[in-house]
Amino acid sequence: MDQFRALIVDDEADFLDTLVARLNKRNIDTVGVKSGEEAIEIMKKKLFDVVVMDIKMPGGIDGIEALREVKKIQPLSEVLLLTGHGSVETSIEGMKLGAFDYLLKPVKLEDLLIKMAEAFEKKNTHDQKIRAARIKELMRFPGRVLDEK
Ligand SMILES: [Mg+2]
Repeated sequence: MDQFRALIVDDEADFLDTLVARLNKRNIDTVGVKSGEEAIEIMKKKLFDVVVMDIKMPGGIDGIEALREVKKIQPLSEVLLLTGHGSVETSIEGMKLGAFDYLLKPVKLEDLLIKMAEAFEKKNTHDQKIRAARIKELMRFPGRVLDEK
């Protein structure tokens, strides 16, 4: 599989640091941040294929609100939610807002890797469709230069 870029958003520092280190070791270019606000800030500057977002984060904005913003900033990134028992309803709300899927905490690294790969696959397929649509459009109007946006 192609290499991809991941952002992990979780307020638990130990969990975050361990996960980021493990994913980088597996050749996934991973950055970790501790809040929804930080996630929004970094996503304005750097592109990510997959975002793993904890739902419960104290203070500031929670994972669902962050998801809403992230989807506005980078609509093509796929977001995976991490949820504790008792907040499955919130995860369902998140999926209605465009999250790719959710995983229950504590999460096994292997399970997370599988979901992240699936999310990347979906994102990749979507990107390819967009590229194909652009090419099709260029072929329809060979003289026209299309905006690379
Ligand atoms: Mg949390």
